[in-house]
Amino acid sequence: MKVDIVTLFPEMLSGPLDESILKRAREKGLVEIRLHGLRDFTRDKHKMVDDRPFGGGPGMVIKPEPVFEAVETLRENDSRVLMMTPSGKSFTQGEARKLSFVSHLIVLCGNYEGFDERIRSTLVDEVYSIGDYVLTNGALAAMVVVDCVSRLIPGVLGDEESATDESFSNGLLEYPHYTRPADFRGMEVPEVLMSGHHAEIAKWRHEQSIERTRAHRPDLMARWNEKQPDFKQNRNQGV
Ligand code: SAH
Repeated sequence: MKVDIVTLFPEMLSGPLDESILKRAREKGLVEIRLHGLRDFTRDKHKMVDDRPFGGGPGMVIKPEPVFEAVETLRENDSRVLMMTPSGKSFTQGEARKLSFVSHLIVLCGNYEGFDERIRSTLVDEVYSIGDYVLTNGALAAMVVVDCVSRLIPGVLGDEESATDESFSNGLLEYPHYTRPADFRGMEVPEVLMSGHHAEIAKWRHEQSIERTRAHRPDLMARWNEKQPDFKQNRNQGV
């Protein structure tokens, strides 16, 4: 996969791209990630990327010209253009999975008040928010998307870092993990995990997943319940 990130602050991302799993994936050639400064796509001598909003109000708006120029320069036949904004649809594990099959992503990061609407309405394939909060600019949001998508590309995670059976992979949050020592300051590991009974362990983990999801994410729990064939029965049991 190839990824082009267009941002006012490319330097914000060079550190995260050069660590750990992403660094290794880039070295192996599994993902090629390039950072671009939005100002490099301006044509005026002041390298202007923003201007005041029509209609008044606070802040500045990203102008269409440099963003169109960037996308037209970087776009290939099979590119998908993503825009990062809190007013987009929620970026989820499901969206990440879909994007992991795309061969080229162009990710547009905003700043100030955000983008001129004509960018969103004509240039962009997907508009994503990474959560219900507002960041100072889109670089970190783009990093979240790129990190999440990259780890789903075959070969990026090693055996010891599996992307199956983790939070959201089956619609539930992941169960708790334990490692040695079995007794740490009097806190003991649940016995079932040391029993060697695979079926019992699987059952315990599933119950824990459900318990956690119900406690922390009632929205996911409701959706999961609806997908179960015995939905009514589960609900009656308070699952
Ligand atoms: N005025 C905008 C917020 C702009 S924040 C609004 O109210 O919707 C500045 C930039 O940061 C945005 O253009 C976007 O690129 C990025 N950003 C901030 N929060 C984000 C979020 N939750 N998800 C994705 N991008 C975000």
